[in-house]
Amino acid sequence: MLNAKLALATQPDCQTTVKLSERVAFGGSDLVIIAGPCAVESRSQMETVATQLQRAPVQALRGGVYKPRSSPYAFQGLGLAGLQILAEMRSRYNIPVVTEVMAIGQIETIAAHADMLQVGSRNMQNFDLLKALGQANKPILLKRGLAATIEEFIMAAEYILSHGNSQVVLCERGIRSFDNYTRNVLDLGAVAALKQLTHLPVIVDPSHAVGKWELVAPLAKAAVASGADGLIIECHPEPEKSVSDARQALSLDAMVDLVRTLQPVAAAVGRRIHSIQSLAIAS
Ligand code: PEP
Ligand code: MN
Repeated sequence: MLNAKLALATQPDCQTTVKLSERVAFGGSDLVIIAGPCAVESRSQMETVATQLQRAPVQALRGGVYKPRSSPYAFQGLGLAGLQILAEMRSRYNIPVVTEVMAIGQIETIAAHADMLQVGSRNMQNFDLLKALGQANKPILLKRGLAATIEEFIMAAEYILSHGNSQVVLCERGIRSFDNYTRNVLDLGAVAALKQLTHLPVIVDPSHAVGKWELVAPLAKAAVASGADGLIIECHPEPEKSVSDARQALSLDAMVDLVRTLQPVAAAVGRRIHSIQSLAIAS
């Protein structure tokens, strides 16, 4: 059982807000939608994504540069070169960027260029990494492990909080089950439970949960209706050419449409999605 007395993440009666920038924060009445490709592949790819998604609008861009792949022979990410591309988009389009950190040695460099460091599912219980992120002065997006219980998920957040970093956002991204029609099973019960058990913002990744682009929109709507504070969604200028997770990538048009259809769902549960004007291009 969770020990609420010991658990920093489970203090009741308060809601932590986690700021990504002056204008974007998780945990308030505004939803935060993070969108972009699974992996940063090129400058022109990210230019297209950043430009097109201004129409959505989305509040942050994603793109992996260090990729945790099941096979060591699969594309591992562009590394530093990819991080530089993300940093360029961040300053050119005045939009926060989120990217995955896989190792302690990457923290400093990523923190210098990104607004939020993602801990992927495969690293949710990499305790040394979590402790080191507790000392980083950056918001952390902690994704639920592939088969982690809710208690294990909260305890992983505790590692970061107890080492000094209170800026943690939890992300439900589906858990493994017996059915392989969908990639994973989106656990919206966990979203409701985490919102009750913890004071941390909770977002949902419908892309990795379901694994098929045509099923992403319904799950995104359900996530917002269930009280999620935001979404992280994969999309790509040419989904079928995506070097990783092609099957689940939305086209950029589909991403724009999705945000449009999320508006009334958000309104029905008392949430808003930032208007496009507030995220206008910086230069
Ligand atoms: C990702 O966001 O690209 C990713 C690898 O996600 P997860 O860790 O949830 O599998
Ligand atoms: Mn992915």
